[in-house]
Amino acid sequence: MPAQIIDGNVLAQAVRAELAEKAAALKATQGITPCLAVILVGEDPASQVYVRNKVAACEKAGFASLKFTYPAEVEPAAVLGKIAELNADPAVHGILVQLPLPPHFDADLVLEAIDPAKDVDGFHAENVGALMQGKPRFIPCTPYGVMKMLESAGVPLKGAEAVIVGRSNIVGKPMAMLLLAQDCTVTLCHSRTQDLAFHTKRADILVAAVGRAKMITGDMIKPGAVVIDVGINRLPDGKLCGDVDFDSAKEVAGFLTPVPGGVGPMTITMLLANTLTAAERTLP
Ligand code: NDP
Repeated sequence: MPAQIIDGNVLAQAVRAELAEKAAALKATQGITPCLAVILVGEDPASQVYVRNKVAACEKAGFASLKFTYPAEVEPAAVLGKIAELNADPAVHGILVQLPLPPHFDADLVLEAIDPAKDVDGFHAENVGALMQGKPRFIPCTPYGVMKMLESAGVPLKGAEAVIVGRSNIVGKPMAMLLLAQDCTVTLCHSRTQDLAFHTKRADILVAAVGRAKMITGDMIKPGAVVIDVGINRLPDGKLCGDVDFDSAKEVAGFLTPVPGGVGPMTITMLLANTLTAAERTLP
């Protein structure tokens, strides 16, 4: 039987409708409109699209948004100055610096400059530490979205073998922490992993977050497994595809997320969720 598709667009729409209702209630009862400030440095086309989508999602859900763009050659001090200004502005609840930053930036320094209470991407060391301790304050949006997808599909997590391919700070590592917190047995694979298929084939839950088109093929998947494809890759014909070879995977997996229309829409949705949370936390 072909895999059931977990439709990220449908789920995102439902969660965003709930968030829009909550935002409207916060405005009506407390006079607070959740506000996200986004900083974009440089002209990277993918980053421009991501920022545009984030701002549009805010507007659609009734959130306020502010966008600050800088040329690639801007002095880091100017961006740090803007972050300080936004940190001090009580009308701004979430601050996001779109990554990657140009090479002359120290990205860690920039992320650490954001007030942890407004760090809606969850990349500040304080928030990373809180997640490690099992007491998350802001969960990074992509793994947070994946957890929502697993929940919506009713995937049993306790005791499940979870294998994550990719160990980045923004996807793989926080994903591991979240699955661990739900009592999965977690394996993190990376570019130095020997015999990747050995690990992927024993996964009840397989998360691919690498950035290599179609690298996970059906023969690497345990029959009935839940396969979450985080990867976004552009093929030579301009089309997007994931890290999972959808056609062969869907014949083996029990659940599968598509690309596009899978994890991507949920990432932006959880950014809105974190911004709403940040706004609610300002209440006395
Ligand atoms: P990074 O480049 O930061 O990390 C990639 C990871 O993949 C690294 O840990 C790397 O290992 C590992 N890797 C590389 N080659 C192999 C290999 N042959 N076998 C096993 N592991 C390998 O990427 P990100 O985590 O930032 O993103 C991953 C993908 O997810 C990208 O396609 C990105 O576009 C997409 N993405 C999608 C989002 C969404 O909303 N859907 C959000 C964020 C990212 P090592 O550490 O050893 O180098």
